[in-house]
Amino acid sequence: SSRHPTRSFDSRSQSISSSLSILPPMDNRPPSSSSNTSFTRVYRIRSNPRPFTIDTSRAKSNQPVVALCSRKIGITEYPNAREDNKPCDIYWHNVVYSDIRNVVGSATSRVNKFPGMTELAKKISLTHSITSMQRIFPHEYSFYPKSWFLPAHLDQFRAHCEDDETKRECDNSDKKAWYIVKPDEGAQGTGIYLINNPSQLKNEQQRMLVQEYVADPFLMGDQLKFDFRVYGVIKSLNPLSIYVAREGMARFCTEKYSPPTSSNFENLYSHLTNYSLNKGHGAYVHSTNLQDQVKGSKRLLSTVFHQLESRGLKTKKLWHDIKLIIVKTVLAMLPEVMLHYEHHFFDAAGPQCFQIMGFDIMVRDNGEPILLEVNAAPSLTIDHLMGGPTDGDYVPVYRVRSVVDEVIKIPLVRDTLLLVLNLLDEEYGKSSPSTSSSAHNPSTQDDMGTLKTRRKPHLSEIFPTRYGHCSGHLLFLDKAVYLFMQFVNLKHTVNITMQGIKQLIKKCNLSNIVSTSEAEEKVREINYYFTGDDNTFSNGLCFHAFLMFLHWVSERKFAFEDDTLARLQRLMAFCDSALRFYGVRSARLRRTEVESSDSSLEIYMLPTRLKASKRRSKSQQNPSSTTQRSSRPSDRNNNPPLVLPKI
Ligand code: ADP
Repeated sequence: SSRHPTRSFDSRSQSISSSLSILPPMDNRPPSSSSNTSFTRVYRIRSNPRPFTIDTSRAKSNQPVVALCSRKIGITEYPNAREDNKPCDIYWHNVVYSDIRNVVGSATSRVNKFPGMTELAKKISLTHSITSMQRIFPHEYSFYPKSWFLPAHLDQFRAHCEDDETKRECDNSDKKAWYIVKPDEGAQGTGIYLINNPSQLKNEQQRMLVQEYVADPFLMGDQLKFDFRVYGVIKSLNPLSIYVAREGMARFCTEKYSPPTSSNFENLYSHLTNYSLNKGHGAYVHSTNLQDQVKGSKRLLSTVFHQLESRGLKTKKLWHDIKLIIVKTVLAMLPEVMLHYEHHFFDAAGPQCFQIMGFDIMVRDNGEPILLEVNAAPSLTIDHLMGGPTDGDYVPVYRVRSVVDEVIKIPLVRDTLLLVLNLLDEEYGKSSPSTSSSAHNPSTQDDMGTLKTRRKPHLSEIFPTRYGHCSGHLLFLDKAVYLFMQFVNLKHTVNITMQGIKQLIKKCNLSNIVSTSEAEEKVREINYYFTGDDNTFSNGLCFHAFLMFLHWVSERKFAFEDDTLARLQRLMAFCDSALRFYGVRSARLRRTEVESSDSSLEIYMLPTRLKASKRRSKSQQNPSSTTQRSSRPSDRNNNPPLVLPKI
């Protein structure tokens, strides 16, 4: 903390920090370059510890950066777990462990992973979640390229290509659409290739994602394609709270871009921005200091925003759109996140989960951001490996400090730890001076005040604060989640079985609309669409597959209604009232909104978890000042600020 003398973590930090230019702070604006203050903070270690603990025994490759950040903010690290078996305040895991219930048994603890998130962020699952939202909110989810999951959607993909061909013939256009083929489990660009015709698929039966290739990236003077890695943090599910980091990175290709043609489409160095691919190219520019990074192959997001601004791109709008993409993407993933949480902690109080997520975003020539991928475990390493085979020669492998990674990831991890411990305001001086330790030392008060006004958190809330009013209606799918929960034994599975669907049809008085045999046939068809495997029928439908089933039912029952969302809303209301007849309490069918002491709104996605969440935050908040909001009727347009629809 700035209250204490700076201790240099590395002697080079001083010279690096002095080489930085100070740019005016732009809070919640397009990212601006890191200031001296924020960079020197990277190396400050807090000398008086705070009464918090962190278990890093399962952090693996994240351990060094988490340990450093814990020291910086004065929380006690247990790299080998606590011997006294007392719970830690935070558990930092590299993956979701199957024994998470036993390891993180305390409801007052926080763990840095949501159960299921690794799977949910994979390309095919993400595509299912976003496609579900596109079906209901087509305009709001147009930031994700049209995608097909092979082999299940092969026919649809072929049909799309034929349509496209016909259209081009009609328009007399010689511009051919290109597609990018990616393995579901792939990472770092492995196994990716481009095609412009389904016949070029290397293996039609392999589990792959085919996606429209966005062929018009925004290029700067060097003509190198680039994309951004933007970091979002889900602080908690109960209450739902999403943050964005104001610094991220931009990754550049190593060969000049031109739109794909049959002669250049194999040159991945000009089409894929992956670091792991491009670092092996002779033209890759590693930066050893922050001055060099402005021309490097890996740059700060803020640097590239300045470069884009100087080329006439409206970066304020771009940053706004990127933040909305993060909010909308997390909201699309939310139903399954809720279900996996309940599945893991069905009979336990459960910890608070939080997660740092990486969003890969490219910018089109017209300034429109496009989401390419979500990474549930973005790399947090702050050095990189050099050497190995480069252009035919072999150089021994060695580790080098990466200044760009340090400037991004140390504040990211540090502020995430502060955030989940509810210390962000205290650290950055938003709380009243009397609560900070400097109040005890009047001589430093003025200096502190100046310093505090200059510093700002690396993370800022984007949901429900700021973007809640324009995206709150996207929480709508929770209604379907609550319905789903009534018919699934979450202790055993996150899928709804045919038995569950039959129950739903019966209890929701839908038998006159859908016969059992029709439902079975539909479920089989939907199951194939989602899994690409006929044999998995007995496993039941995942949530988004179930939603597709509901669409089908709603089309039958409310055929007079043209609008997809309106049809689904009617079906939800119909099922809701039918279930009340069976004694299903309304509290189980709707999220809870609570107005907190500072009049901000807290949204509890899993209302039955409200008590545990309140207990967790008791020490930071005044619980008596919270009042439960009365429920409001649902609103077809759903646009007034934070008026969220309910069943
Ligand atoms: P991986 O997980 O293997 O990195 P990505 O989906 O991130 O796979 O794709 C790798 C790279 O390919 C991206 O970083 C981007 O440069 C490029 N890319 C991916 N999808 C598209 C697309 N639809 N249009 C244009 N470029 C893309």
